[in-house]
Formats: sequence, structure tokens, C-alpha cells
Amino acid sequence: RVKELLKAAALPHETGCGSSFTLRANVEFLEELPRISKHGAKGVGLLRTETLLFQRNFEVPAQIEFYEKVLQASGTDPVTIRLFDAGGDKLLEEAEEEPNPFLGWRGIRLLLHQRKLLRNQIEAICRVSGNYPGRVSILVPMVTDLNEITRVKEKVSKIIAELKSDGADVDEEMKVGIMVEVPAVALMAEEIAPFVDFFSIGTNDLTQYTLAVDRGNDRISELFEPFHPAVWKLIRMTMKGAEKHGIPVSVCGESASIPGAAAAFIGLGITDLSMTTNALLPVKELLCSRSLQEMKELGVRVAASRSTDEVKELFQQFTEKGT
Ligand code: PEP
Ligand code: MG
Repeated sequence: RVKELLKAAALPHETGCGSSFTLRANVEFLEELPRISKHGAKGVGLLRTETLLFQRNFEVPAQIEFYEKVLQASGTDPVTIRLFDAGGDKLLEEAEEEPNPFLGWRGIRLLLHQRKLLRNQIEAICRVSGNYPGRVSILVPMVTDLNEITRVKEKVSKIIAELKSDGADVDEEMKVGIMVEVPAVALMAEEIAPFVDFFSIGTNDLTQYTLAVDRGNDRISELFEPFHPAVWKLIRMTMKGAEKHGIPVSVCGESASIPGAAAAFIGLGITDLSMTTNALLPVKELLCSRSLQEMKELGVRVAASRSTDEVKELFQQFTEKGT
């Protein structure tokens, strides 16, 4: 089976009928890097950077070293670096305990107060971008309001200008996109799209915040349903908002790593999926073996579903067909 799966790594990123899609890797640890090329990912769609925080590698040179390793492991493909998503389940030592950490000081909310932390990270990313032009982009986590985007973009522009005036090489065209993981942003996707370069849908948090289910609480884990129709509705709203303004949209939450769901995303028009490296081959194997038309039909049926069970049933049927 492993051998069979590895064959999928070499297949083109195309459905059975020749329509293209892109699978990228979610990466958090250096140990995962060899799997980017081994499992045939086109670069890194989500680089989680919180390990730098936990190892207390805040300084610019240590960050640069980490980012460069990821870029080198990605060949000539792009790498999307997410700003520190501390808080929630990824606690920072400095943060005081909060009664509701997932609704608290997390992601961009925290970074906009920890100015040195944000500055260092943007500087490190900008410096790396100069060595790998066109390949590096910034992803902002936990955005809720346009104001947070404007503030981050101002900081990025300011740092780019400073670095350039010091004679550093920086990719001035570097893209800045946001995680769509808070329902407010999905609901406002059309209004927000003109202000960002891309959307990356984080189905893990989008599910937790839409369904009011703590993603880490075992007691209610059976209520954590990323395939709930409400989540799909928000995903479709995000996609339509992005389409209206011509910005790219991808999915980097765990949903993308479930083969049936990946097929539905493609059917609905989201062809750029980023997932844990271990899921790349099973997902690719399914996508390469089915036609875009079949995926579109699946997408239509998912969009019309009224319950999680209906959606799950559709995925099961889709995955079993043809085996
Ligand atoms: C998500 O929320 O779906 C996501 C990809 O981010 P994380 O799991 O790191 O919160
Ligand atoms: Mg998230």
C-alpha cells in the first residue's frame, strides 16, 4: 500500500480528466521537511511558526535560519509563512491565564500588542523574501476585523521601506493574506477581499467558532464537526467573496486532508489545498482518479446538505465509488 501511495507523488496535480489542482504541505517541525518533496507537495501552504516561540527563538537570525530551511526543502515552490498564532491552545509563557483562551488574546490580537515580537517576525520574513523573490508570503492568523489587516499591512510596508533604505534585498511584491477562521471574516469576505492578497481557510478554528465547540475539549469532541453545513456555507461565502475580487483562496485546515472533502473543495472551485504531509498521497490518489465533473456534482450536493450526517454520507459514497 505504501509503495502504491508513493506512486501518487509522481503523478501530475491533475484530476482524472486533466483539470489542475495544487496540493501543498502544512509544516510545523523541521522533521517534516523531507516529506514535502517525497510526497509531491508544491511547496508549503501553511508554515506554523509557533515552535520558534516555544523554543524561545524570537531573534531575527534564528527565525531566518528556520524559514530558509523550509524554503530550501521546497525547491522552487512557494512558502506561506504564518505569523505567530500564540494564545488559545498555543500558549505563550508571558500570557496570563485567561478564562476563555480561545476567545482571548490570540494570534494577531496578541501580536498587535507585542510589538517587538511582531516587528522581529516581519523583519525576518522580509529579509528572507529578498533571497527567494516571488516565493514568500505572509499569512495573518485569527483576523476578526479589517482594522487588524490595515495595521499589519502598514507595519509590513514600513519595515520593507526601512530595510531597503539600509540596503537590504526585500521582495516588495510579497503577498499578505489572512486566515479565514473566525466566522465574522467569512461573513465579510466580500468586503475584506479587496484589502488582502489571498484568503486561507482554517477549517479547524472556523468549525470551533461557528459551532461554539472547543476544538480541544474531549468531552464534546463528537460535537466538533468540520463538515457541519454551517461551516460549508461560510466556506462558500468566503470563496464567492474572493472570486468577486479575483483573489486566490485556499484551504489549510484539517478538512482538506480528508479525501472526500478535498474532492468537494475542488468541485466547489477551491483548487489550492494545504494539508499535513501524511495526507498528501491519499488525497492526491483520489483526486487524480476522479473527474472534475464528479467533484462538481459532489460540491453541489454538499452545498445543498442540511446535516453533518448527510455530508459525511456523501463523502463516504464518493470515496467508495470506483474502488
Ligand atoms: C485552522 O484553524 O484550521 C488552522 C489551519 O490553524 P491552526 O490549526 O494552526 O489553528
Ligand atoms: Mg487556526
